This record gives sequence, structure tokens and C-alpha cells, in this order.
Amino acid sequence: MRRKLVIGNWKMNGSLAANSVLLRGIVAGYAAKNADCGVCAPAPYLAQCQSELTGTPVAWGAQDVSAYAAGAYTGEVAASMLQEFGCRYVLCGHSERRAYHQETNEVVAQKVLAALNAGLTPVVCVGETLEEREAGRTNVVVCAQLQAVLDVLEAAAVEKIVLAYEPVWAIGTGRTATPALAQEVHGMLRKQVAERNPVAAANMPILYGGSMKPENAKDLLAQADIDGGLIGGASLKVADFLAIVHAAG
Ligand code: 13P
Repeated sequence: MRRKLVIGNWKMNGSLAANSVLLRGIVAGYAAKNADCGVCAPAPYLAQCQSELTGTPVAWGAQDVSAYAAGAYTGEVAASMLQEFGCRYVLCGHSERRAYHQETNEVVAQKVLAALNAGLTPVVCVGETLEEREAGRTNVVVCAQLQAVLDVLEAAAVEKIVLAYEPVWAIGTGRTATPALAQEVHGMLRKQVAERNPVAAANMPILYGGSMKPENAKDLLAQADIDGGLIGGASLKVADFLAIVHAAG
């Protein structure tokens, strides 16, 4: 049985004061036995996450990482820096990075490598736009996004990544993929991973993201290949985030 994993993606939200309330609330209310949880905070707040969450069951991580180890890359944050602030996870290739910051499949793959080199767990995000879905290209698009990452990894390293399927049309729209529709893509992604490393495929958490909320979490999480959630809006409210974590296990 794969253990469930629920990660909050705060995106560009928060303040020292608001984060403190949120983090303390999550720690105080966390009672999951069969689900792990974490939060991916904006980089300036990683020190705060480290001081609030060290020694608690709640992990933390970043929302992006540089593909480069160090050097003249103004504004970028290296994986080794995230590691120094105790990050366990880092999102790689979130659709907002792909859309607004021109991250290609190849750049995302390099970021995954950089994360792994620093001992972080990359959460590789894939997902199709509404236009791509309506054109019947969902499978082609998400498989290409995943394959670019698989192509740069040693087979053994595939065991160290987490995957997240986030249909772009479901993000922040209130329009969730139906459990059956999400399951179909998750199942396909797991098969694709299995072609490279069957052990990795069997153990890999594949998270669903896109308007996941307390009301729809249980049905999504009941699907065979949905192992958790990557939560945007609902991760900013203690009660909603905890309800999803507790629905997971
Ligand atoms: P929402 O939960 O706000 O739809 O965001 C999902 C997401 O993009 C998480 O990474």
C-alpha cells in the first residue's frame, strides 16, 4: 500500500504573520496516521517553515528551483540553498512556471536533476490545458512532459521522485477533474514510469492537483492510482487543508 501524501502549494501568498497562524494550526490539528503532509512556501519563508516545523510531522519545501548549481543567475535559488533550509520537497514544472516563465520540458528535467543532486524530492508536475484536452491531446502532452524527465534520470533515480497530475483547466477554477477522468491519466502515467522502472512505478506517489477541496478529496483519493493531493487555494486555510490531509489517511 502506498502511503498517501498531501502537499500544500501556497503559490505567491502569505506573510510572516499569516504563515505563522497557518503553520501552527496545521501542526496542532494534524492527526493523520496514514498520510504524510507538507507545505511548499515562497522562498523567503523557508526559514520560517524551518523554525516552525522542525521536529513536527509536517514537511516543507519550495515551489521552484534553479536548474543550475550556483553562479551568475540573478534571482534564482539553488537546490543546495533549499537543502540548507531543511526542504524535503520542491515543485518542478508547475504549470504556472511553464506558462508564465517559459519552462520547457527540458528545463523542467534539468531542475529535477538539480533537486535530486541536492537530496531533495522533486514533485514533478504535469498537466494539459483545456485546449489540449479538447483537441484529444491530453495523453500525448502529459506523457511528453513525463518522458522528458524520465529521459535524464538513471533508472534508480526514478524511485526518488513524486509525480503530480494537475490539469491546467482545473487549477484555481473550481472545476475539478472527475475521479474517473483523473484516474485514467494517473493510471497511464504509472504505466509509463513502469516501463522505465517497475519498482519505482509501484511505489511512486502520484498526486492529483486542481481545485481539490474537502468536498471532493475523498472520492478522488479513493481511486487506485491517486495517492494524494497537491493543494492550492484550499491549502491556505487550516481547516480545509487538514480536512484534505485527514481524508487521505
Ligand atoms: P488549486 O487547488 O487552487 O486549484 O491549485 C492547484 C495547484 O495548482 C496546486 O499546485
